[in-house]
Amino acid sequence: MTLGGFQEGFIARNVAREEARFPQFLICSHNCKEIIQLISNVSCEVEFELCEKEARKLGELLIASVDKKEKEE
Ligand SMILES: [Zn+2]
Repeated sequence: MTLGGFQEGFIARNVAREEARFPQFLICSHNCKEIIQLISNVSCEVEFELCEKEARKLGELLIASVDKKEKEE
């Protein structure tokens, strides 16, 4: 896994948990049936996998971080 793909962006794909590319690294402790895969536009490989609950948490964390920064500016 390289970091190069991150800069070129991702596509997101919803798949069944059974289709996880790296089940041992899947970010989900709730046994969710569906997961989201982030696939690099460069390598076309799955770079990141997490469930919808964790995706929401992560998304909110990122947005909160951006909002906080914008307030400070
Ligand atoms: Zn989950």
